[in-house]
Amino acid sequence: MDENLLIFDSHAHYTDSAFDTDREALLEKLPQEGVMHCIVCGTQLADSAAAAALAERYPSLLSAAVGVHPECPAPPDGYSEQLRKMAAHPCVRAIGEIGLDYHYEGYDKAVQQRILREQLALAQALSLPVILHCREATGDMLTILREFAPLSGVMHCFSGSVETAREVLQMGLYLGFNGVITFKNARKPLEVIRFAPTDRLLLETDCPYLAPVPFRGRRCDSTMIAETAAVMAREKGISRAEICRITAQNAIRLFRCEKVCADPAEIISAGIPES
Ligand SMILES: [Zn+2]
Repeated sequence: MDENLLIFDSHAHYTDSAFDTDREALLEKLPQEGVMHCIVCGTQLADSAAAAALAERYPSLLSAAVGVHPECPAPPDGYSEQLRKMAAHPCVRAIGEIGLDYHYEGYDKAVQQRILREQLALAQALSLPVILHCREATGDMLTILREFAPLSGVMHCFSGSVETAREVLQMGLYLGFNGVITFKNARKPLEVIRFAPTDRLLLETDCPYLAPVPFRGRRCDSTMIAETAAVMAREKGISRAEICRITAQNAIRLFRCEKVCADPAEIISAGIPES
């Protein structure tokens, strides 16, 4: 890499089977590529437990989020108690990803809304931030979030309007952006990036999905954030290194990673540590 970038990937799925062939080799090379930390998100109970276990193996590189995604089968009774137990693990720093997704039929909207509310309540009871997923469900999402505001967390892969961003920011949430902002048809998210305060922006991959241009269609990993960061930096009129540094500080603050991530300024002066 041509610059000394510090990358905090606020949304990754390193438990996904797309990484089964080379997960360890990939994770072990990330620190040399400038990746200081990643949040590994759960989508169901099983991969939430796997995310916590993976983070435990690489505690300086990975933290975990546990939760049930709206596009997964409804969880069994008592799932909330299982999540609560998982969240007691020291590597778990958020509840996620959780939310609403009305894109595909087949996942009952009322069930999605119920498990979103239950998991928001759990996060607030545990004082953990939430990682929110919202697709084609902005109205219902805002209605539910208003019940719980003020909130700590991030609206990941933010695709809403400036008006929605304004309300979400007022509730206390951060906005996460990934490779989608490098796509040719990205217009709305770029408007939101220009509008939002820099100290409320996060960079993410959603890997193995949504690789940025010029890697589009390939398996994504956290090093590719450099391309997404270049677009965000351009929209904010600052350097890529600066946007990486600020969004890393934002993520450290939101997910309370101070103890596992050294201060970015220290990392720059000391070089990237080997994990
Ligand atoms: Zn995701």
